Amino acid sequence: MLYIEENKKVELMNSLNIPSLLAPYFDTFYNPDVLDVMYILVNNRLSAEEISKKLGYEAFDKIDKLYKDAIINKTSEDNAVKYELSTLFTRVNLMATFQREVWENIPDEIRKKISEWHFGEFLDRKKKLDLSDISKNQNSIVPLNEAIDYLMSSDEDIYIIPCDCKSTSENCNHSKNTCITLGKSKAPSIERGYGRKISKEEAIVILNDADKEGLIHTIESHAICNCCTCCCYPMRASKELGLETVWPKVKYVVSIDEDKCVGCGLCSNKCQRNVFSLENRKVNMNYDSCVGCGVCVNACPKEALSLMPLGKS
Ligand code: SF4
Ligand code: SF4
Ligand code: SF4
Repeated sequence: MLYIEENKKVELMNSLNIPSLLAPYFDTFYNPDVLDVMYILVNNRLSAEEISKKLGYEAFDKIDKLYKDAIINKTSEDNAVKYELSTLFTRVNLMATFQREVWENIPDEIRKKISEWHFGEFLDRKKKLDLSDISKNQNSIVPLNEAIDYLMSSDEDIYIIPCDCKSTSENCNHSKNTCITLGKSKAPSIERGYGRKISKEEAIVILNDADKEGLIHTIESHAICNCCTCCCYPMRASKELGLETVWPKVKYVVSIDEDKCVGCGLCSNKCQRNVFSLENRKVNMNYDSCVGCGVCVNACPKEALSLMPLGKS
């Protein structure tokens, strides 16, 4: 085990742009015994053999572990596998999602601040993009039946991974094991060895449970998410950027048949967007807040609710 000198550690921290808030927790994110590999990769992209040669010892197992921990990334150069430093953003994401025992060792109030910093980084990246490009992505809010259709139409292997937005934000107690990925190579964390391969049947159970919980289904290229508005990075960022309804794309709006409604309030309990308000068992609707997720439709015992395609209602 080799430790690097303090001046090299400072150089490494600078290259990783460690914010002052996180500096006291640097050793939590990066164990001192991995800094020698990290330091060698500052501004470098090297193979495992090249790293080992520079270190003067065989570091293959250590390199594998650093890759799994999202401290370094794998790239391909001239058909050879090379490694480069990952970002603090990616390391925080991985730790909060897959290394809960380490993440939860950080005091609550500090975790909250780290999570705010993390979301801020995400938002800044989006702000640098052309906003019209963000809204052109294929991320859409869909009702349960469309999420299941999307799943059934895929020939890819299916994986379940914990929701990184909820794991990092920790704004609620909603279920976290809700991110369905279609294709092993489609999520970096699965490539790093996380996630669990599941059957289509299990994926359908997960989607049904998420719907009952009131989570909003979103589909995008190779993924089906089940989101809460309080944690979901895309939904929170779209609100900040004034892109609600276009990212994720809103396709439907709820409609009520007042003759069928008995004012039980089950729809209101499920809706994350506060569309419903009840007064003397009479439902009032704020249609502008509806994102057409359809969880209220499935929750209504009287079939009083339905979804109307936007633009046709
Ligand atoms: S998009 Fe939704 S389900 Fe996916 S990681 Fe974010 S909150 Fe979780
Ligand atoms: S769940 Fe259905 S019946 Fe109950 S208040 Fe909502 S719309 Fe009315
Ligand atoms: S009212 Fe709209 S946003 Fe609320 S649960 Fe129903 S479809 Fe979803």
